[in-house]
Parts: sequence; structure tokens; C-alpha cells
Amino acid sequence: MPKPPAKKSAPRRTSARELVFGDLWEFDPAPETADPKLKKRYDLFINGEFVAPKSGKYFPTISPGNEAKLADIALAGAADVDAAFQSAQKAFDGAWGRMAGSERGKYIYRIARLLQDRAREFAVAETMDGGKPIKESRDFDVPMAAAHFFYHAGWADKLDCLAPGRRVAPYGVVGQVIPWNFPLLMLAWKIAPALAAGNTVVIKPAETTSITALKFGEILQEAGLPPGVVNIVAGAGETGAAVMTHPLAAKVAFTGSTEVGKIIMRSLAGTDKKMTMELGGKAANIIFDDAPLDQAVEGIVNGIFFNQGHVCCAGSRLLVQESVASTVLAKLKRRIAVLRVGDPLDKNTDLGAINSREQLERITALVQSGVDEGAEIFQHACKLPAKGFYFRPTIFSGVTQSHRIAREEIFGPVLSVLTFRTVEEAVEKANNTAFGLSAGVWTDKGSRILKMSTELKAGVVWANTFNKFDPASPFGGYKESGFGREGGRQGLLDYCKLI
Ligand code: NAP
Ligand code: MG
Repeated sequence: MPKPPAKKSAPRRTSARELVFGDLWEFDPAPETADPKLKKRYDLFINGEFVAPKSGKYFPTISPGNEAKLADIALAGAADVDAAFQSAQKAFDGAWGRMAGSERGKYIYRIARLLQDRAREFAVAETMDGGKPIKESRDFDVPMAAAHFFYHAGWADKLDCLAPGRRVAPYGVVGQVIPWNFPLLMLAWKIAPALAAGNTVVIKPAETTSITALKFGEILQEAGLPPGVVNIVAGAGETGAAVMTHPLAAKVAFTGSTEVGKIIMRSLAGTDKKMTMELGGKAANIIFDDAPLDQAVEGIVNGIFFNQGHVCCAGSRLLVQESVASTVLAKLKRRIAVLRVGDPLDKNTDLGAINSREQLERITALVQSGVDEGAEIFQHACKLPAKGFYFRPTIFSGVTQSHRIAREEIFGPVLSVLTFRTVEEAVEKANNTAFGLSAGVWTDKGSRILKMSTELKAGVVWANTFNKFDPASPFGGYKESGFGREGGRQGLLDYCKLI
């Protein structure tokens, strides 16, 4: 018998793993076009002016999205850091230290408004220098940074209400060092409360993301902030160490890795400097079988994959109740198969670039350890841009608590999935970490949310949501995630002496 003509069959897609970008609707490129107004060279911001570094040195900053050089950044040496502290001390001993809170508040409001005026320009600069998707910097980082200044401006003339029955006073000069994952937002978290409380500041941004901090110096000039109230010194770890240990720093505030936080604490042991530390995390996102699962999957994706997992409070461990584990995992795989990874400046991009080659290598090594230790890997099979630093969204299932990927902070788009049967087991596993920054609980039962939030050793516990922030809400850690709070009344109190 002659064979019937072969039918044209549709492309076979047997699992989410086989879905590649070509299977999705192709979107036309939608790059954000606002001018980031970048300069070729950025000098240090000391005593209200941009000044060439006494060190005479500059270092390049690149865009991790395409590895193109963006600008040269002045490297602050010990003499530059000293000049910044001298100017901050002079400002504190002078007009700023004597200024009424209501007047300080006006400057802080002005800063907030100017940041809003130049929001799009700052968002593009942030995305180019750091690699995060434009929709993150445009819709979260920059508006939240402005919101922190607005919130703290409102406190400046109400410090008498900060600690009922007590009076408060500023410390003096505050030394601050921040990381690369939320460059402008971390700067706002640090500078806004310091100024509201009447302190003056020397701040160092991370080496790979100094541009928005130095552009912020332009805003301070526009706002007419008195010279020396805020000084911005760029550089690497050595510059950071000089800021943290300077004799004029009455208080130091650090956000970064637990490892560097410990080095700083050791170097300051025996001094009377007041310290706050916002360090690493290994958050558990806990899903019970009565949770709204689709909503929870969105929360998990938001918690670990957006912003490339470059979030200290990222929900990097998923604890899912055994009875719904396979359903949740299947939903997650389908969801990450449609995430768009690529050009950070494209408005459709969900995951942009990893911040630096070093960070990409660190993520790659930790993912390899997961494979070597026997966890099952699932990766989004998307095409990655030829240039720049990118990593595919990755899910590990079959993870046990002893795996490195369950214990160490990966700081990349990598989710480790563990299961549990009972509430007690969920609490046990979630708390079985050296960190304690944040956690998420997904359940229909209010009573269970209350129980979990009291038993979880985490500074923030989100219920049926994840990664939500508000300037009025304090943020900070337990255990090796640090001490002190940022945001809210508690965060502001960390910048005040009680007298
Ligand atoms: P990092 O290596 O600790 O660096 C943080 C900052 O410290 C950078 O400005 C860095 O300069 C500087 N630094 C390095 N060595 C120093 C030293 N010996 N003394 C003083 N400063 C020094 O951390 P990262 O890799 O940039 O940032 C990621 C880490 O930050 C993660 O662990 C994350 O969890 C944590 N983080 C925590 C929070 C929170 O609120 N808890 C928020 C955001 C990030 P260079 O950049 O030049 O090295
Ligand atoms: Mg850069």
C-alpha cells in the first residue's frame, strides 16, 4: 500500500525546558532613550565641589550590559578621604550643626524633588553602570530613593517625637560604605536619615557603580546644600576601609557582604564608634499547601529572578510543602521559560546583566557546586547577548540543607528548592542559616502567618507578598545579616544619640 503523505506537524514542545526565546512572541527592541547625561570623567565631591583626586588616579567604569567603558572615576586615596572628613567636620561644627531642623528639612525636600525631576536620567545612568533592567531602576530604585528623602525631610523638625521622654542629638560625622546592587537607593537609605538627624556625611559607593552617586553630587549643588555636609569619595575596598576607620567618623554605617562587615568590625573593635551593619542574607520563601499558588509563583519569581537576584533579601531558598511541591515546581518552570533576559536598557527586559565579571564567576562556581553535590538543575534555555555578563535563571530541586547552594549567598538568579511537611519543619529549616534578613510566608491562614512571623528569625517577614519596601518601614537583620535598622523611626534613631 502506498504511504499517506507525511502530515506537517507542529513543533513539538514536551517540556518547559525546550521552550526557547524563538517560541515567544518576538518583541521589537524598546530601548529607553532618555539621555543619562554622562560625563567622560567624574571627580570626587568634597566640600561642595567636584575636585581632582590628590591620588592623581582614575579607574574606568564599564557597562556590564555590553562591556563598553562609560567613564573614568576618580580614585580617592587616604589624603582624599581625610580631606572629605575634614570638610564634613567643619560643616558639622559650622552652619549645619547649628541649623534648625525645619531648615534642614527644606534642603532634604529640595533634594527629593530634584531627584524626581531628573528621575529618568538617573534611572538610565543606573541601568547602564550597574546592569539592572530599566524597569527596575525606573519604577523602583529611583522613585524609592526620592521617597526616602521625602520621608526623612518630614522628620527633620520632629526629632523631639522620635524617642518619647528623651532628647536626641546627631553623632557628628558619619562614614558610610555601600554596595553595587542598589547604588542610588542605598545612598538614599544612608544619607537621608543622617541629614535629617543633623549629621554630616562621607560616603563611598561601590567601585563598579559610582556614577549615580557622583551625579547625586550635582543634585546637592543644585539644592544649595552647604559645602561639606555630604562628601562623596569613590574607590575600591581600601578607600572603604579608610572611610570606616577615619578618626573623625563618630558613627559608621556599612551595607555589603558579611565577610567585609566582619573585617570592619574587627578593625573598629575597641573604638567608641557607633556602628550599623546591613549584611548578607539567605531568605526562605515558604509556601504552604493552602497558599494561592499562582500568586506565590509570581512572588517567588519577583523575589529571586528580577534584578538578577542581586538583592540581599532575595528569596533564594524556596521551602514548599511536600503535597504541592511538584505543582509549584512545574508552574515555576513554565514561568521562568518566558522571562526575558538581555539588554538592561530594553523596557521589556526582566533580567538584565550581572553586575561584574567577578560576580558572574562567583555565581557560575556556586551553581557548579550545586550540580557537583547532586541537586537537579533546570535552566531557562534562552539565548544570551554575545557581549556583557549574563546568567540564565536557574532552579535547583532536590536540594538538601547541607548543599552550598542552600547555605551560601549566591547573589544571582538561582533558586534552591527544598520541601517540608509540617509548620515546625518549615520554621526549623528556614531558621537553619547563619543569616536572618528576610523571609516570606504564603498561606491562606492569618493565624499561621502570625505564628510564622514570630518564630522566623528574620528582620522582615513578608506575608503573601515579597520584596515590598516603604521608607516608613524599618529594614535590617538578625545574626550574620547585621544589626541596626534602616528606614522608619528605628532607622532614624540609629543616626541619633539619646541624651
Ligand atoms: P562587599 O564586597 O562587602 O562590598 C560592599 C562595599 O564595601 C563596597 O563599596 C566595597 O568596595 C567596600 N569594601 C570592600 N572591602 C572593604 C573593606 N575592607 N573595608 C571597607 N569597605 C570595603 O559587598 P558587595 O559584593 O559589593 O555587595 C553585595 C553584598 O551586600 C551582599 O552580601 C548583600 O547581601 C549585601 N547587601 C546587604 C544589604 C542589606 O541591607 N542587608 C543591602 C544590599 C546588599 P568595592 O566595591 O570597591 O569592593
Ligand atoms: Mg559599572
